[in-house]
Amino acid sequence: MTHPIQKIDEEWQALLRAKGAEPAAFQVTRHAATERPFTGRYEQHWAEGRYHCVCCGALLFQSHTKFDAGCGWPSFWQAEPGAIAEHVDRSHGMVRTETVCAQCGAHLGHVFEDGPAPTGLRYCMNSASLAFEPPTS
Ligand SMILES: [Zn+2]
Repeated sequence: MTHPIQKIDEEWQALLRAKGAEPAAFQVTRHAATERPFTGRYEQHWAEGRYHCVCCGALLFQSHTKFDAGCGWPSFWQAEPGAIAEHVDRSHGMVRTETVCAQCGAHLGHVFEDGPAPTGLRYCMNSASLAFEPPTS
């Protein structure tokens, strides 16, 4: 699968460094690593605003869809329409649905069907894949 935004590893590394992304951001977004639970900067972050892809800046989530899933990663019950692409992930002996940024292919996390109403979805994200922006006033 190809995404509109394509860069080589060295370009993503330089871009993430320049943005002040978390040290794990490159391995998480470009090589599907998972940050350790309860360590990400957005796990207990409840300010009003928007969450963007740390790599390309695409809008992914709004803060009112974030909820405390208790799993150690920031969780949302709804993504912005068209913002996220899904792949079947058969790694680690499980069948899960991987979520990536539709624009640049950044690994974000996984989506599960045990979330709250109204969607019943739980987008379990890595903080390192996200960049929060407060509302512009
Ligand atoms: Zn992206």
